[in-house]
Amino acid sequence: MAEPTVFEKIIAREIPAEIVLENDRIIAFTDIHPQAPMHVLVVPKTARYRDVVELAQGDPELLAEMVQAARAIARERGDGGDFRLVFNTGELAGQTVFHAHAHVLAGSLGEGSLA
Ligand code: 5GP
Repeated sequence: MAEPTVFEKIIAREIPAEIVLENDRIIAFTDIHPQAPMHVLVVPKTARYRDVVELAQGDPELLAEMVQAARAIARERGDGGDFRLVFNTGELAGQTVFHAHAHVLAGSLGEGSLA
């Protein structure tokens, strides 16, 4: 079995995180290296999908739930409710944790600013 990722350790409460939303399928917490005034990671609790492409194929409803969670978080913590959703997919695109997740960014985003 693969070594658990940092996100599985956060889900298991083995390492701390500032959790902003949690339900039976999703957890969301602030990014340890924020790239925007609000930078939250929305993460499915299952470790089954290594990126958003696998997730979209395997459980599109869960992906839709993540988008709804992102909207709720941006409404509560963001700047007027608008937000940017980023899914780094693959190493060359900057993905470092191979457990599907969305970056939710809000507040003073430059036009070219990506996580
Ligand atoms: P990726 O680069 O895979 O798209 O995103 C992984 C994100 O996880 C990065 O933005 C990184 O800052 C964040 N991250 C890595 N380790 C931790 C951690 O231990 N705690 C939190 N809260 N975020 C982390």
